[in-house]
Amino acid sequence: MSLKAPYETSAGTEWDRRVLLVQVMSEGLCGWGEVTVDQTPSFTSETTDTAWHILSDFLVPMILGKTVSGGEEAGRLMHSVRGHEMARAALENAIWDIEAQRNGLPLGVQLGGTLCEIPCGAALGIQQNLDTLLNKVRDDVEAGYQRVKLKIKPGHDIQVIRQVRRAFPDINLMVDCNSSYLLAHAALFQALDDFGLMMIEQPLWWDGILDHAKLQAQLRTPICLDESVRNAHLAQEAIEMKACKIMNIKLGRVGGHSTARKVHDLCVEANMPAWCGGMLESGIGRAHNIAMSTLPGFVLPGDVSASQRYWDEDIIEPEVEVTSRGTIDVPRSAGLGYTVRQELVEKLTVRHRQWKSSLQSSIGAVGAVVS
Ligand SMILES: [Mg+2]
Repeated sequence: MSLKAPYETSAGTEWDRRVLLVQVMSEGLCGWGEVTVDQTPSFTSETTDTAWHILSDFLVPMILGKTVSGGEEAGRLMHSVRGHEMARAALENAIWDIEAQRNGLPLGVQLGGTLCEIPCGAALGIQQNLDTLLNKVRDDVEAGYQRVKLKIKPGHDIQVIRQVRRAFPDINLMVDCNSSYLLAHAALFQALDDFGLMMIEQPLWWDGILDHAKLQAQLRTPICLDESVRNAHLAQEAIEMKACKIMNIKLGRVGGHSTARKVHDLCVEANMPAWCGGMLESGIGRAHNIAMSTLPGFVLPGDVSASQRYWDEDIIEPEVEVTSRGTIDVPRSAGLGYTVRQELVEKLTVRHRQWKSSLQSSIGAVGAVVS
């Protein structure tokens, strides 16, 4: 799927997304999940192609034809696979979708969610120049988004923040570093303390916790961890080591709804605000994010935004829309709450594989790319 505009972070620029989807059929129901992975191993170690391999050769055989009570048990059945969280999440989440449909519940309610409307923030990649950035910030504020997140990297940080703050003194503003700094940059982050940022997301090493604890001790601005927290155990470590004051929970990064809920519960217990991060998902991943964001600990605006922000045409209907209050109304129908546009998915599909069990349940994986 081609992005409406290129998206640049400290890790590079994306022009399109190879979207890998998982469709599970069981008992006449059909559930969908999305592998929210990048094409390169630059966010975590996974890529679209490692996910295809791990799903095909390991995860699907662990689930296919089994009697599985629901998403939580599916997660347990795949527990022996180390890492590959995004591949596991797609399959587990598709089964959560089926479980919710079977119980006649919206997926958020199935997960224990209580919110009917979720707060949304906008995330802006690195822009060509300051004027473009200021215009985009203005557009997002006027569209109602409740906070604006700017991607920064060394050489593109404090001057940019200073200018944005000058133009927008009162907005909820935060930055995401995508692990592009070192503890030796502590003075720069101390200087950022003056700009009243909501948080500084993932400043240091992508799998580091200790250095984040050392940095947090020197800052007033809360650190929020993203890349470093890939399971509930690491979330516990980060909380106990005071490596962050805010948690970004991403379904793919932590391996699916079961673990995301555990991380959420740890945050609630520790009184740590959480929010839902994004991975430039298609509508399917976006719908799962909306469901997860209904859990009561998701108190800060997430990266869950309108379909039209990234795509000319999304693969679900209705498309996700953001209200003028900067919120998304959570769908009330059973399962994901959106209809997957099967014909459009087929049109975009370049690779497809299907497995069938003797019990007549089946699992399909499709990979789509527009080039
Ligand atoms: Mg991030």
